[in-house]
Amino acid sequence: MKYIGAHVSTVGGVENAPKNAHKIGAKAFALFTKNQRKWSAKPLSNNNIEKFKSNCEKYGYQAKHILPHDSYLINLGHPETAALEKSRAAFLDEMQRCQLLGLDRLNFHTGSHLKKVSEAKCLQTIAESINLTLDKTTGVSAVIENTAGQGTNLGFNFEQIAAIIHKVEDKRRIGVCIDTCHAFTAGYDISTKENFSKVFADFEHIVGFEYLKGMHLNDSKKELASRVDRHELIGEGFIGLEAFKCIVNDNRFDTIPMVLETPNAESWAQEIKLLYSLQK
Ligand SMILES: [Zn+2]
Ligand SMILES: [Zn+2]
Repeated sequence: MKYIGAHVSTVGGVENAPKNAHKIGAKAFALFTKNQRKWSAKPLSNNNIEKFKSNCEKYGYQAKHILPHDSYLINLGHPETAALEKSRAAFLDEMQRCQLLGLDRLNFHTGSHLKKVSEAKCLQTIAESINLTLDKTTGVSAVIENTAGQGTNLGFNFEQIAAIIHKVEDKRRIGVCIDTCHAFTAGYDISTKENFSKVFADFEHIVGFEYLKGMHLNDSKKELASRVDRHELIGEGFIGLEAFKCIVNDNRFDTIPMVLETPNAESWAQEIKLLYSLQK
């Protein structure tokens, strides 16, 4: 069984996310639990929390099919102490918000070395940030999203993701989300059946499917290995439909939330239908 949806809006409150997901025929969804472009946010009220939970129940969404996304401002590998502390505090707040909402995973962007420290040092800092946060929370897994490798972002290859996981103490609460656009522009050619198989054989070998806790389904406006992160509608970019056909027909992608982050919210219902139609 595949759980396909989209990253839906929370305008008016987090409780609107399940409603918005239901409207487009989604079986999974992603959301921001606060404004992703601001550091601070007011705490979730009991009203927000209760309504979110009752709407999830009403529309049939379980925690394991919901993939919250953290703020874009957070850099868990920041090379400077004050900025790192700020990011860690914000990440802890996001994990706690997920915990309050009864969610079990939080998708985050690994971090950037900003050309001030080595990759290895930055990966170490990221792992320490995760360990500190997991110590202070319960029930929510930290889910590393692979990046396109734009700028000094790390987490663009499976080895870097594995290096972080290796240093995380509680392996039950660490996971990975593969964004298809990021993988492709980072240099993983998933556009043909044969190459797709190779890429995910590497993933199994280097990271392991037991850590896969979500997928972001996006086509790409940019070429293979361009290291530029620009999402495109499914089937209309450089990746093409074949990769998505592979995903929806592969049982290694069962049970996890798979969400669209494609540029046009009006087309999500259609894209979800399209993805399900690719199942044999
Ligand atoms: Zn992301
Ligand atoms: Zn993504």
